[in-house]
Amino acid sequence: MAAVEQVSHISGKTRIAALLGHPVGHTLSPRMQNAAFRAAGLDCCYVAFDVQPSSLPDAVLGMRALGLLGANVTIPHKESVLALLDEVDSEAIFIGAVNTIVNREGRLCGYNTDGRGFMRSLADENIAAAGKQVLLLGAGGAARAVGYYLAREAAELVIANRTPEKAQRLAADLEGLGAGVKGVSMTDIQNAVFLDGMDIIINATSAGLNHSDPPLIESSLFNERHVVCDLIYRDTPLILGARHAGARTLTGRGMLLWQGVLAFELWTTLPAPVDVMRKALLDSR
Ligand code: NDP
Repeated sequence: MAAVEQVSHISGKTRIAALLGHPVGHTLSPRMQNAAFRAAGLDCCYVAFDVQPSSLPDAVLGMRALGLLGANVTIPHKESVLALLDEVDSEAIFIGAVNTIVNREGRLCGYNTDGRGFMRSLADENIAAAGKQVLLLGAGGAARAVGYYLAREAAELVIANRTPEKAQRLAADLEGLGAGVKGVSMTDIQNAVFLDGMDIIINATSAGLNHSDPPLIESSLFNERHVVCDLIYRDTPLILGARHAGARTLTGRGMLLWQGVLAFELWTTLPAPVDVMRKALLDSR
């Protein structure tokens, strides 16, 4: 068992918020959420649980039995957990994924704070998506969450995915929420004429999680007009290439912060200590 820097105060009344995922060893959420609970003076504690897919129903039953405050849900459980909850809010139903569970006196209620978290991370940097040409890479759970809010903010959206049928399906689902949206394949976007017409480019795929992954877009196709975002927390080959070309870049750390802020506020109904949470993430670089 690894040594830790300090043990939080634990009492007979401590409420637990959990992370349910597989794997979870890399997560920064315990550091961020425990700093927030301490700063808010709450007798609460955040713990990550590595839950195998086959054990998810038991883990959710355990949440009820043990009276947990709530949970975050991450890969690979965000979709499968929906069927195990008592209530799911309409945005999470549309997105088809839950990343936050609130235990309201035994009723487990599901939310998705990823998309709103991403939009708050853009707002934090004074980046507005409304009326902009946005290229969204990916059509999985995170792309659905982010695409939902981008479409509602009336961005002009092109969704590109390795499996183009999934991009087209997501585009069809988002049609009608705001401005134009179309789904294309990853190969359709690899040219300077197309990319010159884009303002914001967002990687919502898992390509880049491994540092050896090739960037989804060549750095020579970026320019200083572009804002390039990656939902992955650290500098990916895509972010490094975009930065090299003079583009403005944003990693997924801001989204991680704001989805956590929104989760904290759902669990506690208190304003989150955002600066403390931001510092906890910066300290864990
Ligand atoms: P999903 O498994 O639901 O979707 C994965 C997506 O990535 C699909 O569109 C898939 O394409 C694409 N993809 C995977 N590998 C490659 C590759 N080698 N080349 C091109 N495309 C690829 O995952 P999520 O949507 O849940 O997560 C996506 C990313 O977002 C992850 O890296 C995750 O860490 C990050 N994330 C960050 C958050 C934050 O707070 N910062 C919050 C949530 C997610 P296809 O359909 O063809 O398989």
